[in-house]
Amino acid sequence: MICVSLAEPTVELAKRSMFRAAERAEIVELRLDQLDHLPDAEGLASLLKDRPCPVIVTNRPVSLGGKHDQPDEVRLNTLQAAIELGADYVDVELEQVGKLQRRKASKIIVSYHNFDSTPPGLGNVFNEMAHPGADVVKVATMANSILDNLKMFEGLRHASVPCIGLCMGELGLMSRILGRKFGAMLTYAPMDPAKATAPGQVPLEDMIGLYNYRAVNSETQVYGVIGNPVAHSISPAIHNAAFRALGVNAVYVPFRVEGDVCNFIDACRGIPAQGYSITIPHKQAAMTALDEIEPICRKIGAVNTAVNRNGRLVGSNSDWTAAIGAIEAGLAGRGLAGKRVALVGAGGTARAIAFGLKAKGAVTCIYNRTPERARTLAEEVGCEWAALDALGPDLAAAVLANATSAGMYPDTDATSVPPSVLKPGMVVFDAVYNPVWTRLLCSAEEAGCTTVSGLEMFINQAVQQITTWTGREAPRELMEAVTREKLGVVE
Ligand code: NAP
Repeated sequence: MICVSLAEPTVELAKRSMFRAAERAEIVELRLDQLDHLPDAEGLASLLKDRPCPVIVTNRPVSLGGKHDQPDEVRLNTLQAAIELGADYVDVELEQVGKLQRRKASKIIVSYHNFDSTPPGLGNVFNEMAHPGADVVKVATMANSILDNLKMFEGLRHASVPCIGLCMGELGLMSRILGRKFGAMLTYAPMDPAKATAPGQVPLEDMIGLYNYRAVNSETQVYGVIGNPVAHSISPAIHNAAFRALGVNAVYVPFRVEGDVCNFIDACRGIPAQGYSITIPHKQAAMTALDEIEPICRKIGAVNTAVNRNGRLVGSNSDWTAAIGAIEAGLAGRGLAGKRVALVGAGGTARAIAFGLKAKGAVTCIYNRTPERARTLAEEVGCEWAALDALGPDLAAAVLANATSAGMYPDTDATSVPPSVLKPGMVVFDAVYNPVWTRLLCSAEEAGCTTVSGLEMFINQAVQQITTWTGREAPRELMEAVTREKLGVVE
């Protein structure tokens, strides 16, 4: 179930929001403690009368975020009144549960909050809270590390009572989506992100549309992007759309890993996670956490994909195949073997492309702003190199590939390649995809070159990941449409 937690200032607004929420969510939580004025008996009755969906009535003390400094006795009287009025659920803190009189129509959620940390042994916490007066146990703790979510899942797994379990804070996001897989009865989501009642809540529309929460069950396979930052990654939108279109019971979530990526990957073997996209800054370090690595990844020195094959995590790198595939598409089947390629840049992306070009038999020269880096990479790959300012009108290359970040938003006027280099018929690829039409690609178009944008590479690698994970053909058109929409690409 998805529960919309309502923190409205008046009874009237709370009623209105309740009807709106009931159109999209199964249940609402009425946070009485967030009203500007605590409701009297009449106000409470009017909130509960003719309600459009089940409600949880909550009335927190100030220490747990409530707005009103009310004696516990008064607070509990209000909750008792809600029980007498037949509220579907009443949420009360563990210490107070014995003070409420149960009635058949109302269930009691007994809750424990820890705003500082997520302690170990949550399975015991859930079970110890299973007071005779409680129907549901709720545990909400602060995530200070992404690993805290795994403690919560462990707790949910071992709970022998109906339960709600989640980690708060941005680092707790995955618990809100995946808790259901481990038995959580519901998750909370704000209808309006600005009215979130706890840090890290996923907006209702994203919970339904982006993460397909209602389809999550104990069999759901877990995938995600490991990086930092990842909050604005568009990968969840692309991959979840693909899983949905393929009818695969899987969910893809962001994993913001701040510390040691190997710890995280090892800990997630217990979920178990079925596959990862791996992005900055973990592409290199993640290699040591995997059980097998495709040989070319060792040369490139990075992985961007991992798949769980019968418990063994296998790493690969779709950056190079995606870029090479994009360039080959620009060559319209003429192939890279024997072609002269000017590769601009010597960072991580250039490295992946350089080894890919080598594997395809291209004759590559690496140009870079810092010539020493070009030289080091060229020596490893076994190709030519030169300083960036050696790139001039005399360039005789069939392909020019930019793998620098020059031209990327917000510095969209920048380019690492002077227009005089560009010749009709040359294939010009730019790894930058934000914007799609970089200054380099615009100049290349004007010069009569065949242009290939970083968007092609971006989509290729997402498509390859879906195929690696599912063994099925990815819904490329859909993934491309989602990518374009998320990037705001207008042609
Ligand atoms: P990186 O490791 O930081 O390397 C950056 C490279 O860009 C270095 O060679 C650097 O030269 C060069 N550079 C930066 N600013 C420059 C400028 N103003 N003029 C000339 N050279 C400049 O970055 P990366 O991870 O390889 O990423 C490079 C680009 O590829 C980024 O824009 C990224 O978004 C894009 N990318 C796209 C995809 C895709 O799917 N389309 C995938 C991955 C990456 P120095 O060595 O002199 O510093």
